Amino acid sequence: SLQGKNAIITGSTSGIGLGIAQALAAQGANIVLNGFGDSQEIASLKDEFTRQYGIQAIHHPADLAKPEQITDLIQESTRQIGHIDILVNNAGIQYVANIEDFPVDRWDAIIAINLSSAFHTTRLVLPAMKSRGWGRIINIASAHGLVASAQKSAYVAAKHGIIGLTKAVALETAQSNITCNAICPGWVLTPLVQKQVDDRAAQEDISVEEAKRALLSEKQPSGEFVTPAQLGALSVFLCSEEAAQVRGAAWNMDGGWLAQ
Ligand code: NAD
Repeated sequence: SLQGKNAIITGSTSGIGLGIAQALAAQGANIVLNGFGDSQEIASLKDEFTRQYGIQAIHHPADLAKPEQITDLIQESTRQIGHIDILVNNAGIQYVANIEDFPVDRWDAIIAINLSSAFHTTRLVLPAMKSRGWGRIINIASAHGLVASAQKSAYVAAKHGIIGLTKAVALETAQSNITCNAICPGWVLTPLVQKQVDDRAAQEDISVEEAKRALLSEKQPSGEFVTPAQLGALSVFLCSEEAAQVRGAAWNMDGGWLAQ
């Protein structure tokens, strides 16, 4: 059980982050939600967490491209629910283009949100984790943290980078009860991937269902999407005492993508 533990999950108003937040809340953790969206919908999401799981839930709107807002995220969360025991660095964006056409501002945004934000959150939560003698840091990388695909230079670079960061933090915390690991999902049908499905359907003049099958058959041998709930269950395991010696791992859950 994660009763009494406090968890921040970045980018948890949607997709994988939301699935992980639900799984941690179901184990009794208090939850800091972060991410964009309609303020009414976020307010009812927060209420749902409190009601369904009987925990404390707050939302902080920090834009993770902005280091000063990340500082505020950690300070405000600590003030409102207490010291952070579990940090899940999940917020991420995608952009698809050949490198010579890649907009410079998209490169900068992807490196800031998908990589540098995890440096900032980690450096800001570690002192309290160290003084309290317990912590779990989970970085949501990707199959693209270990292998590349064309037209995703910034994303692939950021995801390879966050696996390197994961290993360095795991070594710096190796002799403590703080662990740092990365999870490498394959295709998960979230809004981030739905956009790629829709773009492909339009470009190739095929149905959305055909575009989904095409996407999966290229990379994911199972032919099935990974689900946010499955990634939530893996996150719960990585937070457990049984996972105390899982350190610096890049753990794939990818329908066989990386077995090829
Ligand atoms: P998503 O678009 O459904 O959710 C992204 C979340 O991040 C949202 O809550 C959004 O509001 C938030 N976010 C975006 N930019 C932000 C910013 N600047 N500051 C704060 N929050 C911000 O995407 P998802 O598919 O759930 O992706 C979550 C993570 O999983 C990402 O790091 C992504 O790279 C990774 N991932 C996704 C897949 C997949 O197939 N969907 C596969 C591997 C890895």
